[in-house]
Amino acid sequence: MKDRKPRWGFVVEYKRCIDCKACMVACKVENLVPPGSHRNWIGHIGPSGEFPNLGLKFEPGNCMHCENPPCMRVCPTGATYQREDGLVLVNYDKCIGCKYCMQACPYDARYVHTNGYVDKCTFCVHRLDHGQPPACVETCVGGSRHFGDLNDPESEASKMIAERDHYVAYEEAGTEPKIYYVS
Ligand code: SF4
Ligand code: SF4
Repeated sequence: MKDRKPRWGFVVEYKRCIDCKACMVACKVENLVPPGSHRNWIGHIGPSGEFPNLGLKFEPGNCMHCENPPCMRVCPTGATYQREDGLVLVNYDKCIGCKYCMQACPYDARYVHTNGYVDKCTFCVHRLDHGQPPACVETCVGGSRHFGDLNDPESEASKMIAERDHYVAYEEAGTEPKIYYVS
């Protein structure tokens, strides 16, 4: 019997990202994200090399659901909280829109919703709780975005991390983000 809790996380094969932004469109539609805001993004790193042989690295991102989330620590009302499976979520009824969490997040993952509360990626918790992956993973044209239980050594995500070179964004911030970038 499975008695341990999952610990959800992303693995991103950044070299497979073609910057089509299908994941951003899927997220907008799935989560009714207001115009002008977004829950996920494609970072552009570079260019590298020398003209005319230049390269640009695409780095898909969203809230990292940090194991050690500064956004939660600074929240004065307890609106930002962490579930047992590691998801960092916002209780909209408790949020007073002070934006402390936006200042604390090193990844700029949060935005002010038109309804006044602060919002961000939830790892599509409404889908996850019904056994479905996040919409951005299902839509990813390049097959760059992967999702799984990091507590399960047999999950695709865990195996990719174990077998391949990887890094996390802003490791020095000590937030222990749960998006792993693999080459
Ligand atoms: Fe909080 Fe930002 Fe980490 Fe998401 S990425 S859990 S908003 S600190
Ligand atoms: Fe907490 Fe909302 Fe303030 Fe963010 S804006 S710190 S979630 S009360």
